[in-house]
Amino acid sequence: MSQSVTTIHKQPYWVLSGFIAILVIMLTATSISLTSLSGINQRLEHLVKKHNVKLQYMETMRGLIRERMLNVLVALNLDDSFKIEEEWEEFSERAREFILTREKLYKLDVTPEEKERIEIQRRVLAQGQTVMSQVFDLIRENNYPQAKNDIVNALKVNDAIIEELTLMIKVGHDVSKKELSQAADNYLETRRNVFILDVIAVLVCLLIAVVVFRNLRVNQQNITNAVGALKQANEKLEARVLERTQDLLALRDEAVNANKAKSRFLANMSHELRTPLNAIIGYSDILIEDAEDKNMVEECEDLHKILAAGKHLLDLIDDILDISRIETGNLDIELETFSFKPLVLEVIDVMHPLFDQRNNHFSFEYDESITNIYADPRRTRQILFNLLSNANKFTEHGQITLNVKQQLIEDKTWLRCEIQDTGIGIGQEDQNKLFQAFMQVDASATRKYGGTGLGLAISLRFCQMMGGTIELQSELGKGSCVAILLPLNIENK
Ligand code: ADP
Repeated sequence: MSQSVTTIHKQPYWVLSGFIAILVIMLTATSISLTSLSGINQRLEHLVKKHNVKLQYMETMRGLIRERMLNVLVALNLDDSFKIEEEWEEFSERAREFILTREKLYKLDVTPEEKERIEIQRRVLAQGQTVMSQVFDLIRENNYPQAKNDIVNALKVNDAIIEELTLMIKVGHDVSKKELSQAADNYLETRRNVFILDVIAVLVCLLIAVVVFRNLRVNQQNITNAVGALKQANEKLEARVLERTQDLLALRDEAVNANKAKSRFLANMSHELRTPLNAIIGYSDILIEDAEDKNMVEECEDLHKILAAGKHLLDLIDDILDISRIETGNLDIELETFSFKPLVLEVIDVMHPLFDQRNNHFSFEYDESITNIYADPRRTRQILFNLLSNANKFTEHGQITLNVKQQLIEDKTWLRCEIQDTGIGIGQEDQNKLFQAFMQVDASATRKYGGTGLGLAISLRFCQMMGGTIELQSELGKGSCVAILLPLNIENK
């Protein structure tokens, strides 16, 4: 799985490298082709130009020789010495020009064959030059018959030079033809090489394209495989989640059923225990009355202990019964409008001896504007009793205050009963869990304070059922403040 993922990641570099390689190859092949072909072209142009110049020089030389001969013939028919000198000047000028042109020709890129022809021609010209000079000397001396005689020789030499030049032109033509055809061959060869290079470049590019394409397809396959594997894994995961969810649902149902069974058991047991306990309490009362009448002090004390233990047990059973009813959803509350202060005073009356027992000082503040409230009086009494009992249980030689007041929350007026103590307090980490059933800060067997851990849980649930809640603020070692919040009017509910 991880391998195919790696291949997929590398893919874009592969494709990019492939296309860059194709681009480089194509550019290189094109530039090589263009450079080679333009080189050949330049060489051809140079060759044509060189041969044209060569031939032009040769033609010029041939023309000069002919014109020079004319100078001699014209001078032969003149008798004015001045004009004869003019012709001589022209003759000499042409001879110089001829030599200059020949030197230029020699400096050009000439073949060995052409070089040889130029040398021959140089020798013949030197010969002709001497003959012509002699003819001019004879004309100057007015020795015309001898001059005419010598001119025949001069004409022969001149013809030889012209012939030599014509031959040179022919050789030049041949050389030009040869070089041009060689250049044409070169051109064809270069074109063939360029074509082969281009074909190779195209083939290499095709090869790279095929490799890239193949790689792309492999990658595509990898992606498809990876997606398939992922899908499969996902399906497996979903199946496992479903399986686990079903297991959990089954377990939850089991737990719910077990809890219901536990609650049913608790309710049944509580009910079963209440009957004999009520009998014990009832008979204890009767026996206490009898013992008091008969002034049996010792028996009276023992019977009071039995009565207190019985009542305590009955309270515990009541709590268990309540929590099991709450958990099974069988607990109903009976809301009614009743005067609140008498109920509070009644609870305080019951609590007073207990405060004294633990040497706690109790103070009570009441907002007299609070008269009737709409709640379940029995449950309200139970809540007050639970919270005051806790304050008293966890405080010794301290102060307990009950403050009943009104509180405005979001335009609604609430009844707030704050029970404050200076007892042992509760640590921050324990405060939330204490509202769950059977939860205590110290649940060890060796704990100092008795109790079932049900008081707060039951009280909160009752408050919630009456549309209110309980707030707890406490600091370990300093004391606690537990506040009952109930809607003051029916409209608040
Ligand atoms: P019980 O008091 O029967 O154990 P409660 O639900 O009333 O059960 O209280 C749960 C726990 O919360 C107590 O065991 C105690 O640890 C803690 N607690 C309750 N009220 C106070 C208080 N006023 N001061 C200190 N601890 C308290």
